[in-house]
Amino acid sequence: MDLKPDSDKNQYASLETIFKDDGFPDFKWIDPEQIVVAQWVRMKCMFGCPNYGHKAACPPQTPSVTECQSFFNEYSDAVVFHLRLQNDNPEERAEWYKQMAMKFIELERRVFLAGFERVFALIFGGCYLCQECKSERSLCILPEKARPAPEGLAVDVFSTVKKLGYQISVRTDYTQVMDRYVFLMVR
Ligand code: SF4
Repeated sequence: MDLKPDSDKNQYASLETIFKDDGFPDFKWIDPEQIVVAQWVRMKCMFGCPNYGHKAACPPQTPSVTECQSFFNEYSDAVVFHLRLQNDNPEERAEWYKQMAMKFIELERRVFLAGFERVFALIFGGCYLCQECKSERSLCILPEKARPAPEGLAVDVFSTVKKLGYQISVRTDYTQVMDRYVFLMVR
């Protein structure tokens, strides 16, 4: 049963209009309790990801897994956006990541201005805003814009989006279509 008051429903409907106006019609609301946070995700960052220790919005520059779980516990509403990409050109792919990140940072700002002061975007892939990233937060070139990836906050994206009925699977090469996800923590 939906217990949200009508004023909230109107606000949420206006958010959905923002999402669609910004070109992101494929999204689903999620109760943040359904977001799976796991230590194994951080382990994969630490051992296996070339970004570890080299990007200012990636681990170990992000909070501990316990702190990440506390962060998600503070929210009652979030949105998962689904995007798809098929492109085996690494430069074009990086440019697409950057363009999408810029759009979601702007979308986050619009949601903030709509009265949702806690809004925070987690954007797939880590931060791609600069040609060359810095290894520490204090050296970040665009600190007001840099956002971590969901995985950077220890989110098990596979398990979480499957709960919403979204598809996701390991791709063996870049000629295959990729499913990418952005999490917007709303309230
Ligand atoms: S804004 Fe630039 S320096 Fe900061 S995390 Fe993103 S890519 Fe790295």
